[in-house]
This record gives sequence, C-alpha cells and structure tokens, in this order.
Amino acid sequence: MEKVLVTGGAGFLGSHLCDRLIASGADVLCVDNFFTGSKANIAHLQNNPYFELMRHDITFPLYVEVNAIFNLACPASPIHYQHDPVQTTKTSVHGAINMLGLAKRTRATILQASTSEVYGDPEVHPQTEDYWGKVNPIGPRSCYDEGKRCAETLFFDYHRQHQLAIKVVRIFNTYGPRMHPNDGRVVSNFIVQALRGEDITVYGSGEQTRSFCYVDDLIEAMLRMMKSPANITGPVNIGNPVEVTMLELAERVINLTGSKSKLCFKPLPQDDPKQRRPDISFAKSALQWEPKVTLEDGLKATIDYFRRTI
Ligand code: NAD
Ligand code: UDP
Ligand code: UDP
Repeated sequence: MEKVLVTGGAGFLGSHLCDRLIASGADVLCVDNFFTGSKANIAHLQNNPYFELMRHDITFPLYVEVNAIFNLACPASPIHYQHDPVQTTKTSVHGAINMLGLAKRTRATILQASTSEVYGDPEVHPQTEDYWGKVNPIGPRSCYDEGKRCAETLFFDYHRQHQLAIKVVRIFNTYGPRMHPNDGRVVSNFIVQALRGEDITVYGSGEQTRSFCYVDDLIEAMLRMMKSPANITGPVNIGNPVEVTMLELAERVINLTGSKSKLCFKPLPQDDPKQRRPDISFAKSALQWEPKVTLEDGLKATIDYFRRTI
C-alpha cells in the first residue's frame, strides 16, 4: 500500500485530497499546524485505520517514511497569508526545503501546490506556463507570490541537482465545500453574505476577472499529475478557463441563493490582479484532464454546504 503524506491536509483542498486518497486505498499521513485548517474538515476520517493526523509545522524538519508527498501547507487567502507574512514566506521556502529534503531521503515523488499568483498581475492573457509573470517583490502579496515562486525554484533545483521526482501544479482560484467562511476569498464571502442577507462586498469596480475551478475537478488533476510519467514535471496550470467578472459572480450568487442582498463597493486591495484565466492546453494533453463541473453546479454545491454550516 502506498504511504502518502499530505501537508496542509486539514485545509480546504488538503481535506478533499485526503478523502480521495483514502478512497483509492492509500495510507494517508496528514500533517497540519491548524493555522487555517481545522479538525472538522477531517473529523470523518479520524477513525479510519488508514488515516493518521499529525500536528506539525513544516518549517521544522520532519522525519517520516513515505512514497509520495503532496505539499499543500500554506495559507492561501490574502487575509490569512498577510496576517503573518514572514511565516508565510517561511512556510513556502523553509517548508519546501524540508519536504524536498524528506523526498530526497525517502526517494518519494513530491508534488507542489503552486499557484496562479506566480503570474502576478499578468500582461499575457490567458496565462500559459511559459509566461514568467509580473510580480511585485515588495508589496503586501509578495510574501505569498514570491514564496511560491521560490518554492518552484527549489523544486526544479532539487530535480536537477538531486534527480528528485517532482510535480508542480499551478492552481487557479478553486472553490467548494469546506472553504473557510471567514477567509475573505470572493466565493465564500459572496455566498455567506448572500445567505445572511448582508451587502455583497465588491472590491473596486468589480470588472476584474477570475476563473473558478470546482474542488473535485482540481483534486482529480492533482491525482493524475502525481501518477503521470516521470518526464512530466510541470509546471502545469490547473483551473477552469471560464472567466467571469466579480460583478457577474455576485449576480450569479444572488440568483442561486434567491437573496435580497445588494451590492456595495469597497476599495480594490493593492496589487489585486485585473484578470486571470488559465490556458490549460498542457494539462489537457499531458494529463487528459479538463474540468467537468460548471460554475452553476459548483456554486449550488458550495451554497448547500454553507447553508448547512453557517
Ligand atoms: P487552506 O488555508 O484551507 O489550507 C492550507 C493548510 O495548510 C491549512 O490546513 C493550514 O493549517 C496548513 N498550514 C499552513 N501553514 C502550515 C505550516 N507551516 N505547517 C503545516 N501546515 C500548515 O488553503 P487551501 O485553499 O486548501 O490551499 C491549499 C494549497 O493550495 C496552498 O498551498 C495554496 O497556496 C494552494 N492554492 C490554493 C488555491 C485555491 O484557490 N484554493 C489557489 C492556488 C493555490
Ligand atoms: N529534512 C527533513 N526530513 C528528512 C530529511 C531532511 O525534514 O527526512 C530536512 C532537513 O532538516 C534539511 C532539509 O530537509 O534541513 C533539506 O535536506 P537536504 O538533505 O536537502 O539538505 P541538508 O540536510 O544537506 O542540508
Ligand atoms: N473580491 C471581492 N469581494 C470580496 C472578496 C474578494 O470583490 O469580498 C475580489 C478581489 O478583489 C479579487 C477577486 O475578488 O479581485 C478574487 O479574490 P480572492 O481573494 O478570492 O482571490 P485572489 O485575489 O487571490 O485571486
């Protein structure tokens, strides 16, 4: 049986990944420091004999025996990663060094959850993997963006220098059940506000765009990437290429919830990217993958989740 380490396994994406791995017959070690993750996300797995939970911060060394590592540990929402920006960079950089050291010793294949933020506020649209990005190195988002960029550098240097089997996925905005209701990300904010009948907070003019991928599609791509041939290292864009403005998203959420909420406009955060859409040609050809869940169906499932939990 494969022993798989999932760092950040108690978070939004990590907990869905643990579910899929357990269902596929893997023996899962979930490592998390519970900065943004919660035991509630994985409570249903706690009695499973093939699931083990370890409280640990990956900026410290970790000695365990595994065959595969999914490195997801890192706060992902701007509110959370800007709360302690130094720790955010440490998690991305020191954390990557420790997990790569672990992979080197155990000869495990290691997958990095990188991000579309490596493209910054992109001048190339849609974003292809060979675009190097436009990132502010000293702004409030830099701890995350540059931390993730440095982690990618480390992955490719361990690959070249120590022949590590690496996989790098660049995740575009992903949403679904188990998103943190207060983490400030747009999908959770809009849904929670709509369900509570509060104003929907649109930042800036709301004309900026994002492309939203439903969590199940994302996890499928991550699993395919881990199983792909050794020559497929990535980076590979994973996301849903359907692009919407934040105004369109707000309208859809209001319609699907039947809410009476009104829009209210707030200042645009500094360095907020104006547009973002993945070119997923490489994922399609290398992984035979493309997203299947429409924004409408994904939003409905996410709305159901928040109705039950808030
Ligand atoms: P999340 O905040 O729900 O999950 C991150 C998890 O990592 C949490 O459980 C947190 O407690 C844990 N963690 C943070 N620092 C840690 C540390 N030092 N040691 C151990 N655990 C630590 O976020 P998510 O949306 O599930 O994101 C998971 C990964 O995917 C992150 O690396 C994120 O950068 C990446 N990603 C997510 C998205 C998205 O849209 N959700 C987009 C791009 C990239
Ligand atoms: N490391 C770890 N677990 C392991 C092996 C290494 O956490 O099983 C850490 C170790 O603390 C080290 C880092 O990974 O700081 C990088 O390891 P590597 O072997 O690349 O570097 P070195 O030990 O030579 O500095
Ligand atoms: N946003 C918004 N209202 C909110 C939260 C976010 O209009 O309540 C906007 C934000 O300014 C950005 C987009 O939605 O343009 C996506 O924000 P999120 O934090 O979810 O992701 P990221 O900016 O990291 O892509």
